Amino acid sequence: MAEAHRIVALPGDGIGPEIMAAARELLDRLGGFEVEEHLVGGASIDAHGTALTPEVLAACRASDAVLLAAVGGPKWDTTDPDAPRPEQGLLGLRKGLELFANLRPVRPSAALLDASPLRRERIEGTDLLVVRELTGGIYFGDSGRRDGAAFDTCSYEVGEIERIAEVAFRFARRRVTSVDKANVLETSRLWREVVERVAERHEGTELEHLLVDNAAMQLVARPAAFDVILTENLFGDILSDEAAMLTGSIGMLPSASVGAGGPGLFEPVHGSAPDIAGTGKANPLAMFGSVAMMLRYGIGREEEASAIESAVDRALEAGLRTPDLGGDATTEDATRAVLANL
Ligand code: NAD
Repeated sequence: MAEAHRIVALPGDGIGPEIMAAARELLDRLGGFEVEEHLVGGASIDAHGTALTPEVLAACRASDAVLLAAVGGPKWDTTDPDAPRPEQGLLGLRKGLELFANLRPVRPSAALLDASPLRRERIEGTDLLVVRELTGGIYFGDSGRRDGAAFDTCSYEVGEIERIAEVAFRFARRRVTSVDKANVLETSRLWREVVERVAERHEGTELEHLLVDNAAMQLVARPAAFDVILTENLFGDILSDEAAMLTGSIGMLPSASVGAGGPGLFEPVHGSAPDIAGTGKANPLAMFGSVAMMLRYGIGREEEASAIESAVDRALEAGLRTPDLGGDATTEDATRAVLANL
């Protein structure tokens, strides 16, 4: 028998442990995983005084993939700049695992087309992936204040652009849409040059360039026309949230962060939902989608990834609705429904 894949599971806070328990039922059903659970975020602050211990980071580095639920909550909200914060766990993982690419697929389930703020005809057929550069650009450049003014610096190196472009072309099925602001920004002109060079290495895939303002418009005007959207950190932050809203519910959206060959981090887009923690109302479907992404992009078990996504679609078609989708199914009901369709 093939060796089991080693997964580090980080339940975190709020509804995190509830949806992680659901994910673990799913992994048990699929089989072939060795799961090790650790504390992160507020739970880790309570136990160790820090959101991510070096031991947990080391366990993550030694794994095949890291599955995270969510961190944070009012208990750890503080205005004291020296107090530890749950989000530091996430940033520590991204940095420690060198996760430079954030992947967010947007594929509205047929059964939920009417939950989108866009008309059904617009959204139908949408199946896109946003590939966002995560560790460079204006969020990491020099910033400060001088003589009554403030500044943030945006800078990108060729190598940083090349590696994120490679990720985008690797996952594209037909086209990469590279989004920049090359009519104004020098970093965007370098971005364009490098992306064009990378495209030459991927003959079967088309490359188009869109200016970010136009991209924001096209994303709501013709979302189904996109395949992979490749963009830098700041533009990606905004466009990935815009794209996410196309599906209508935050409880449905998975994401992945991957890097230079080490383990990737797979997590729902939503937070720890402290308002519903402990009530059994958490929708586990974004978590299941994150498990599917882990199988697809993290450890290469594509068939099972598709099987999970189909099982979720079938459960929704059969009427599964958690409270965030307007129904009354519990986390447990949703888990049963998906497992029954697997
Ligand atoms: P949130 O995503 O936790 O919740 C927003 C709303 O969506 C709430 O009404 C919540 O009940 C609902 N919701 C979220 N996930 C749901 C699910 N799976 N099923 C049903 N309903 C769901 O965002 P927030 O309220 O802004 O933040 C709460 C805490 O989570 C904060 O401490 C924040 O810092 C943290 N947070 C963590 C992450 C992360 O771990 N990646 C991301 C965002 C926010």
